[in-house]
Amino acid sequence: MNPITKAIRIQTERTIEMEHSTPMFLTSSFCYDTAEDMRAAFADETDANIYSRFSNPNVTEFTDKMAALEGAEAGYATASGMSAVFASFMTFLKTGDHLLSCSSVFGSTVTVLNKYLPKFGIEVSYVAADKPEEWEAAIRPNTKMIYLETPTNPGLDIIDLAFVGQLAKKHHLLLNVDNCFASPVCQTPIEYGADLVIHSATKWLDGQGRVLGGVVVGKKELIHELYLFCRSTGPALSPFNAWVLSKSLETLDVRMERHAGNALHIAKALEGHEKINWLKYPFLHSHPQHAIAIKQMKNGGGLISFNLKGGLESGRNFLNNLKMLSLTANLGDTRSIASHPASTTHAKLSEAERQAVNITPGLIRISIGLEHVDDILQDILQALESC
Ligand SMILES: *Cc1c(COP(=O)(O)O)cnc(C)c1O
Repeated sequence: MNPITKAIRIQTERTIEMEHSTPMFLTSSFCYDTAEDMRAAFADETDANIYSRFSNPNVTEFTDKMAALEGAEAGYATASGMSAVFASFMTFLKTGDHLLSCSSVFGSTVTVLNKYLPKFGIEVSYVAADKPEEWEAAIRPNTKMIYLETPTNPGLDIIDLAFVGQLAKKHHLLLNVDNCFASPVCQTPIEYGADLVIHSATKWLDGQGRVLGGVVVGKKELIHELYLFCRSTGPALSPFNAWVLSKSLETLDVRMERHAGNALHIAKALEGHEKINWLKYPFLHSHPQHAIAIKQMKNGGGLISFNLKGGLESGRNFLNNLKMLSLTANLGDTRSIASHPASTTHAKLSEAERQAVNITPGLIRISIGLEHVDDILQDILQALESC
């Protein structure tokens, strides 16, 4: 079956009620008929659930669908995207290891890399997303993992997955890709050699701004290691959130098609606008890595970013004059969202750190929703008039 079909048809075994839609398994633990059954479950001799911090039918249904969509052998779901990111570091890195990251990553990930990993004696260094020629020289004898996002947040740079996949293979490094911005129906990094793929399920996977969640997928042995870390440390996804997310995956492909269609239309309409000095969307010919984008992505995704000529002041005016777009700290929603990274997602970084990840005072990121494309464009255009 096609992964899109699997995302709809993978289903927890029906209960005695023969329900069509999977019910919620709101239970902390699971029962056994006999001491022997219980012993076998604890000895990992069966797939029986034990305790919802370890596994739960709703969570398993969600991770099985995610593994299918990403072309991965297995997956493990967590309470948020950040717990997935953190678990992927703590499971596979130890004191003395070095992690090489692309310089443009999600704000909280930057905090983990700069503030928390060094506490455990893990070295971190960065390479520019748009300078692949510098990546190999940045690999050290103790480098263990390459970490990247593509498209990057919020600059929407594109990193060549085939190139990094080969680099990681050549140097025997774990390649860990945060695939949140693209979504698995747009891009599947495992094809290019990624060992681990991470998502904040909070974004496009839910797609309706309701729940937090995260997931890591990859080879069976690696996910088993990660499972053992999470099983003991506790960042489990709640069954309720997993139930919501599993349902959401059934519509992911159609939603992303419309998000991307709307985004391309709006990006084309805004390109060259007098108030903007640049606009980036992966499927525009003007995007610096357009050739890579069309090679590895099925569509350009639902995010566009642009820089207002008027800088910080214009950024504030733009947000204040929007009538429909939401000002909120999220992306990947049916509702279009405008954000100003310098004052929100990346506000905790120093000015120097912001500059290092190309966050300029006038940078605006828009998550294009599923409202009628004319209404989204109209709201952006009228807000630009005040900039
Ligand atoms: C939101 C986000 C995260 C963190 O996910 P949460 O669910 O908010 O914890 C990680 N990476 C990227 C690219 C994100 O956009």
